[in-house]
Amino acid sequence: MTTTSTSTDEVMDYDEAIARFDPVMGLEVHVELNTATKMFCGCATAFGAPPNSQVCPVCLGLPGALPVVNATAVESAIRIGLALHCEIAPWCRFARKNYFYPDMPKNFQTSQYDEPISFDGWLDVEVEDGAGGTEIFRVEIERAHMEEDTGKSLHIGGATGRIQGADYSLVDYNRAGIPLIEIVTKPIAGAGERAPEVARAYVSALRDLMRALDVSDVKMEQGSMRCDANVSLRVRAGDGPTSAAQLDVPLGTRTETKNVNSLRSVERAVRYEIARHAAVLAGGGSILQETRHWHEDTGVTTSGREKSDAEDYRYFPEPDLVPVAPSRERVEALRQTLPEPPAERRRRLQTDWGYSDLEMRDVVNAGALELIEQTVALGASAQAARKWWLGEPSRRANGAAQDLVAYAAQLGFAPADVAALEGMVVAGRLNDSMARQVLDGVLDGEGHPVQVADARGLELVQDDAALEAAVEQVIAANPDVADKIRGGKAQAAGALIGQVMKATKGQADAGKARELILAKLQ
Ligand code: ADP
Ligand code: MG
Ligand code: ZN
Repeated sequence: MTTTSTSTDEVMDYDEAIARFDPVMGLEVHVELNTATKMFCGCATAFGAPPNSQVCPVCLGLPGALPVVNATAVESAIRIGLALHCEIAPWCRFARKNYFYPDMPKNFQTSQYDEPISFDGWLDVEVEDGAGGTEIFRVEIERAHMEEDTGKSLHIGGATGRIQGADYSLVDYNRAGIPLIEIVTKPIAGAGERAPEVARAYVSALRDLMRALDVSDVKMEQGSMRCDANVSLRVRAGDGPTSAAQLDVPLGTRTETKNVNSLRSVERAVRYEIARHAAVLAGGGSILQETRHWHEDTGVTTSGREKSDAEDYRYFPEPDLVPVAPSRERVEALRQTLPEPPAERRRRLQTDWGYSDLEMRDVVNAGALELIEQTVALGASAQAARKWWLGEPSRRANGAAQDLVAYAAQLGFAPADVAALEGMVVAGRLNDSMARQVLDGVLDGEGHPVQVADARGLELVQDDAALEAAVEQVIAANPDVADKIRGGKAQAAGALIGQVMKATKGQADAGKARELILAKLQ
């Protein structure tokens, strides 16, 4: 193992790095499929089960055990390939990738090598164009192949959780054999300074797509989606963004930052590697082709292991599995099951809901799209649904460092609650500030909106006599304001409405109070 650089690596100012060099990226994303059973055996795949409770002779690699391909996993692989605009191989095989690691009980990983199930596709991703709008960047896909996950090692006793410094290690094979799809891009050039943003947008678009296909949980924090980010730099051929001529310039040496496990980290890791490569190259050094580890806390990468292109995995076709040969009819039938592409769906919903670009971006960033869609389906207006979800619930979810969907689910706070809350506003039972109090109560676990409104006695004064009495009292107490209104200054009514609200402890209908005041003073 060679270490040429440490965590005290020099980095160049990012803008300077981009002015001098052209970044090229390659993203390898592993997606764990959400099948009920593993890729080649009937073991369960539930996350968080007791260690080594979901294993059998096949996924433990015991002598004589024979694998059988999971048909649902193959179906998901084909649907993923189609959604990525790939060609689907009419015939392909699995291959053994031989290497030794304790978390891999068979000492080889059943994967695909030169015969991937799908290849040559693309995915369009949206990036900001710097003028408040968005722009499309097309990422070319090299291949998306099937393989199986490894087990998980747990290093006990060290400070970092890494093997260095640990007293001993444990291994859990529950994950060994869970179906994975590895999606590999072609080298991504031409993104220039936006390379880190494109990397993040790509992983994010891929995550949306997997969700829409319903083939994976895609939880980066749980490892059901993981990204390795390859980065290299080329000296700029000319001024401005990468010119066509740049296509002829050979690629620089790449590093591969492994297992980056959040969207934000993908962006940061790529940005860091660009700045680090630039410092090395500008200083006359050369980049070592190696894997790197990303450190979330310090925001740097450190050297992993040296990795040549010609690593000898002694790949050979898996003799225990039959080839996968989906008929064209089968592939076309699966194409019919593809969902509306996420970006198109967002555009359709934005039009239906009449949101501005900014409103839509906030909704997407808050992860509230599905929640709002369901709330609108239950009768709330799109603006009201957005207002309620992006208000207190989002604030509390952020405070708890949870995403909104998970936060709401855990609380049992559903689109039906938001629809009921808004229903009370529309029906004139609650005004806005009362509705906020009800929402607070619901989020504090006091019950459903109607229960909370009942329990807290929140109800607009509908009783005209009581409202009229309050109005008369306020007019009598403010003769000069009343005179102004009589004199034609209707906007002065605001001051009186405020006092009516105060007198009724906020339970009056402000619109009705205004009508009454004006009727009495004209
Ligand atoms: P490995 O087996 O080393 O992981 P892969 O072919 O699986 O190799 O993935 C390498 C990734 O890096 C691909 O996305 C590829 O397009 C990309 N890539 C290859 N060469 C370069 C380079 N010089 N700079 C940046 N990315 C590269
Ligand atoms: Mg790879
Ligand atoms: Zn098993």
